[in-house]
Amino acid sequence: MCSAKETVISEKDIGMDLNGKESAMVDVIASFISHTSIRLPDDVIAKLEEMRASETEERALQIYDLMFENMRLAQELKRPTCQDTGVLQFFVRCGSNFPYMGSLEEVLKASVLKATKDTPLRYNVVETFSEYNTGNNTGSGVPFIMWEILPGRDDCEIYTYMAGGGCSLPGQSTVLMPSEGYPAAVKFVMDRITTYGLNACPPLLVGVGIGATSETAALNAKHAVLRPIGSHNENERAAELEKMLEESINAVGFGPQGMGGKRSVMGVNVVNTARHPATLAVAVTVGCWSHRRGRLVFDKDLNYRSLTHSKFDGGAL
Ligand code: SF4
Repeated sequence: MCSAKETVISEKDIGMDLNGKESAMVDVIASFISHTSIRLPDDVIAKLEEMRASETEERALQIYDLMFENMRLAQELKRPTCQDTGVLQFFVRCGSNFPYMGSLEEVLKASVLKATKDTPLRYNVVETFSEYNTGNNTGSGVPFIMWEILPGRDDCEIYTYMAGGGCSLPGQSTVLMPSEGYPAAVKFVMDRITTYGLNACPPLLVGVGIGATSETAALNAKHAVLRPIGSHNENERAAELEKMLEESINAVGFGPQGMGGKRSVMGVNVVNTARHPATLAVAVTVGCWSHRRGRLVFDKDLNYRSLTHSKFDGGAL
């Protein structure tokens, strides 16, 4: 049986082996995490502005106004846009020649610890079965890090994601019989969104994954919510599915925060990979209105830029 002592990641051990450049990388990533907790991505802000402009229902307009006031105050007071700053996840697309690949896992863990203290972020990591909060936003398998190695490249792209409780709740994957077809996938997504979507603070960004197994579909769904709002799947039929689901979920009439309104989603993104002849796996996950995802790119000399947060200059704000 694991004791609390055995499973807590020791703060003093994280980052001990990092050199000066790696520590500088920790400072940048920690600042970026803080920044993304305080300021939403450019595309999310633009979409919320567009949705507010096209809304006609009085209560929905009041909710949008509150959201924008929330965002203004978050920046003024340097506080996260939502108290639930989630469990940190990283999706790393790293060139095989990136000089710091070997220490990147340590860098990311140290960045989470630093961002947790500096921002501050709420302690959200609870060890399962032992059922205690680690108190520093790290734990067994947290931060979650998913790697993609890009042969021959020397840069590194890091997607950051704060997986909040409410917006993680609707997530589910299943494996359908291919004979059930894509209509069954649509029913699965609609059932899930109409049952749990309200828990996720609409308007939502809905990610749908299609693939061979439950875990590949789930991962595709996550990649879908990392994709920019307004982007479309390259496959014409998948793009049609995105449009159809978006219209269908909007027609449910959640509106912002589920208080009613013309639109319920910021978008529906589908990411698909090939399937087994005998399976059609589908998964859904959602991002909430406070969709804290970021994208940061380092070159081999650790020059960096954000592709999601144009105001990020290395500081929290
Ligand atoms: S769903 Fe999003 S906005 Fe709502 S409480 Fe959770 S993290 Fe915050």
